[in-house]
Amino acid sequence: MPSYQFVCQECANRFDVVESVAERERHRQQCPGCGSRDVHQNLSGIQVRTARKS
Ligand SMILES: [Zn+2]
Repeated sequence: MPSYQFVCQECANRFDVVESVAERERHRQQCPGCGSRDVHQNLSGIQVRTARKS
């Protein structure tokens, strides 16, 4: 099951949330480290194939 990575803005803790939970609780995520709800989804945590042009 895919997961989303979130980053806490308070303590910079990164944690993963499984897709089904993230979908439902997207706006209610809480940092497991400090308990802050000031967390942002880290889009760069999703693996994306990068095309290099050179
Ligand atoms: Zn935190």
